[in-house]
Amino acid sequence: MDYDAVVVGAGPGGSMTAKTLAEQGARVLLVEKRPEIGVPVRCAEATGISGLEELGIEPDKKFIAQETRGQHIYAPDGSKVVLEDGDGRPTGYVLERRMFDKHLAILAARAGAEVRTRTCATGLLRERGERGFVRGVRLKHFGEEYDVTCRCVVGADGVEGQVGRWAGINTRTRLDQMTSNAQFELVGIEIEDPTILEFYLGSVYAPGGYVWVFPKGDDTANVGLGIRIRRRRGRSSDYGESEERAERAIEYLEKFISSKPELKKGSPVSVVTGGVPVQGPLDESVGNGILLVGDCARQVDPLTGGGIYNAMRCGVIAGNVIKEAVDRDDMSKEMLVKYDREWRESVGAGLLRSLSVKEALEKLKDDDLNAIARVMRGLKFGDMDIKEIGKTMTKLPPKLVDFVQGLLRS
Ligand SMILES: Cc1cc2nc3c(=O)[nH]c(=O)nc-3n(C[C@H](O)[C@H](O)[C@H](O)COP(=O)(O)OP(=O)(O)OC[C@H]3O[C@@H](n4cnc5c(N)ncnc54)[C@H](O)[C@@H]3O)c2cc1C
Repeated sequence: MDYDAVVVGAGPGGSMTAKTLAEQGARVLLVEKRPEIGVPVRCAEATGISGLEELGIEPDKKFIAQETRGQHIYAPDGSKVVLEDGDGRPTGYVLERRMFDKHLAILAARAGAEVRTRTCATGLLRERGERGFVRGVRLKHFGEEYDVTCRCVVGADGVEGQVGRWAGINTRTRLDQMTSNAQFELVGIEIEDPTILEFYLGSVYAPGGYVWVFPKGDDTANVGLGIRIRRRRGRSSDYGESEERAERAIEYLEKFISSKPELKKGSPVSVVTGGVPVQGPLDESVGNGILLVGDCARQVDPLTGGGIYNAMRCGVIAGNVIKEAVDRDDMSKEMLVKYDREWRESVGAGLLRSLSVKEALEKLKDDDLNAIARVMRGLKFGDMDIKEIGKTMTKLPPKLVDFVQGLLRS
């Protein structure tokens, strides 16, 4: 075998898998189809500080655009809910993903992984027979196709990933279980407090989703939104449909920006469109000689759309399990299922909780959101004790209590 593992996709999930494996002496190849890792960015770039600390990623100015310390959530009538910890210390970052993703790939390379860019996986090499172990990948580099063999393949190829499907894993995501997202990086805007992430809820802004304003300095922010669009009957081309979904998302975004004088004068220096699966995790993420990590395993949070930390965390788990499998010379699904079990223990409960809050949120009308925000405005969540939370619940209309309890838990 040429390698112990070939990792397809150098996003946060793939690079952390490759880094974890290489640190333990495994022979690993990380391939990325784009010419430059991290580009183009398809992300609002917010993540938590504690997650990166836990994964041992040292903060570096080159990939941190802004430290953040709280969130303000606006209901359709403008009522504001403040989520801030009492001590005012930073709890999050708005990253420069183009630098961050490259940094993670560099860490993997420095640990000993071989990295090849502009190298696209075009198929898998599989043994014949029912159990059909994956034994390698077909790669394409500047028009030339060649095969590499390995003990296992890691699909870390993102939301549009194909590796799982090639391996026979059911990766189907219903189109109506995707959000369509659009974002401008706006420069020259007014930002009241760049350490605050802002969210706007309600069907006027983003039906089935929300608007975000994530500052990247004093006059720049990622301003974007995700919306759910139901599948139209009679459309056969997915491409046509996704184009149309992106256009609808852009329309909502332009409407939102033009309604805010502080944003209206900004210039977009980049535009991002892309889908986020909000269906919850795949039922199965492993097979014989194959594992899926990150968005392609739908490890992204269905409520917030956040997936950077989960992809990285699951990459570390995948790397450790693969190393154990290499040492035991056993790449069977029965062995690799340890990865499936461990990532569900680690991030799976949170994903399922977010899924049920998201489903409840979708049923709320704008008036319900206004009612919740009016009861919650002025509260300091970081400092609230259980008695205060109980008192707040009694002020809510009964049909909203379960939803708010779920929200607070998640
Ligand atoms: C608009 C938007 C906003 C978002 N905002 C946030 C946010 O603020 N915070 C957050 O935490 N998450 C956010 N997310 C989600 C986040 O971007 C993803 O969850 C995260 O990037 C997942 O990492 P990954 O490694 O699984 O996949 P990716 O980062 O998508 O990486 C997959 C890589 O695989 C490569 N690839 C694909 N196919 C092949 C192939 N055949 N051969 C070789 N390479 C291949 C791709 O080029 C890509 O580089 C957002 C997503 C969107 C769309």
